[in-house]
Amino acid sequence: MKKIGVLTSGGDAPGMNAAIRAVVRKAIYHNMEIFGIKNGFQGLIEGNIKKMELGSVGDIIQRGGTLLRSARSAEFKTDAGQQKGIDQLKKHGIEGLIIIGGDGSFRGAQKLTEKGFPCIGVPATIDNDIAGTDFTIGFDTALNTIIEAIDKIRDTATSHERTYIIEVMGRDAGDLALWAGLSGGAESILIPEKQEDFEDIVDRLKRGHERGKKHSIIVVAEGVGSGFDYGERIQEATDLETRVTVLGYIQRGGSPTASDRVLASRLGAKAVDLILAGEAGRMVGIQQNSLVDQKILDVLSKEHQTNIDMYNLSKELSI
Ligand code: ATP
Repeated sequence: MKKIGVLTSGGDAPGMNAAIRAVVRKAIYHNMEIFGIKNGFQGLIEGNIKKMELGSVGDIIQRGGTLLRSARSAEFKTDAGQQKGIDQLKKHGIEGLIIIGGDGSFRGAQKLTEKGFPCIGVPATIDNDIAGTDFTIGFDTALNTIIEAIDKIRDTATSHERTYIIEVMGRDAGDLALWAGLSGGAESILIPEKQEDFEDIVDRLKRGHERGKKHSIIVVAEGVGSGFDYGERIQEATDLETRVTVLGYIQRGGSPTASDRVLASRLGAKAVDLILAGEAGRMVGIQQNSLVDQKILDVLSKEHQTNIDMYNLSKELSI
């Protein structure tokens, strides 16, 4: 294989740039030509394709977002859209494609592979909701952004003796809420994977208050429900002054942590190795700090497992 392409797709995640850099440099290291496709699958359909050089990825390892931009493409979900994409790749003589994104992007990668165009997936999404990898690129940075916010909110929570509800991202996956809750010392953590007893949340808050606690933090994953709704219900049930913060899109941005840069560099380089070895329809991942790869089809048929031991631990530590 002499010419390959790379694109980022779906929601952006900090560390995508470090992954692009790794793909570009590793490809050039192996004497391949590497093409960047802008705006995800939509850009692929439109032929927004440019050759990249070593210098194209200079000074981006520390930047959030994605140099190649990202987009959602409804057209690419159709057979005709996928065929247009393949035609564009062939026009440039590109023989394989590395797709950096989440599970939706991997469905696209799988479709291209089934149509005879080899693709390799690199998991990048802040939600950490992909099966077959312990971590996705961007999760650690988003987690650290949340922790910074929680620490700041703690200061004001203590000064005013308030209960704070912090709503974080995670529609179907609770990893961000769970890890942030545990590392932020939250009283309760609400995640989609675990039904929480409302009475238990209220009891914990009341017990803490009676013990003389100056503040309480509750972390809610957006998939469980609105932080504002929980805030109202909790204030009503406890009579404690309650405030709500929805962190929103700040969780997506920022300079990637060292951990995300390392992960992105390792996974990006591994993806190039796989494509060079003639593999297709596979996703690279990390398990117990070792690089692994598996069929995208298997990844898509399973659910990422949240660590329930950690959830139980958070309960034990916030009695
Ligand atoms: P995130 O987890 O951050 O949302 P994602 O990769 O899951 O990232 P999606 O919007 O679900 O984000 O998918 C990105 C793009 O992948 C879609 O806009 C679409 O172009 C393509 N895609 C998604 N599902 C399919 C599918 N079934 N067939 C072909 N392409 C798809």
